[in-house]
Amino acid sequence: MSGSGDHRDEVRTHTALHVLKGAVVRVLGEGAMWTASTYVEGKHGRLVVQFDRKPSEEELKAIEELANSRVAEDLRVEVLRMPREEAERVYGEVVYDLFKVPDEVRELHIVVIRDRDGSLWNVNACNKQHLPSTGPVGRIRLGKARFRHAKKLLELPFDVEP
Ligand SMILES: [Zn+2]
Repeated sequence: MSGSGDHRDEVRTHTALHVLKGAVVRVLGEGAMWTASTYVEGKHGRLVVQFDRKPSEEELKAIEELANSRVAEDLRVEVLRMPREEAERVYGEVVYDLFKVPDEVRELHIVVIRDRDGSLWNVNACNKQHLPSTGPVGRIRLGKARFRHAKKLLELPFDVEP
């Protein structure tokens, strides 16, 4: 049986996905901007992005450090409901993942995390539940990254602690 504690963990882990994605794009560049899939179970998560190579250990370390710096800054997590056309006009294609939201969905929940300087850290159409700010995520620890050459997919497993 799963209690409310488990649900709280999953909200933390899911919010961590948004923070981590921002760090991935900062370190690896626009080539890593498309999310292929995400997975959350308890305090364990996995972000899978399209990319063309396996990152170096230094890059992975930089991603982890950058993500944790944005957790430490306790950035606000905003959720904006807006018509799909407006979201596309304001933010562009970046709101989507690799696999698009079905055409019949006309209104999107846009999750926006802004950096301290007001620039966008991460923006994504997402209808899951999120923490109101990044601080309670805790610490993000990256696991062993895996690059699937044939599919050009980079898998980044992680855990949130404590
Ligand atoms: Zn989300």
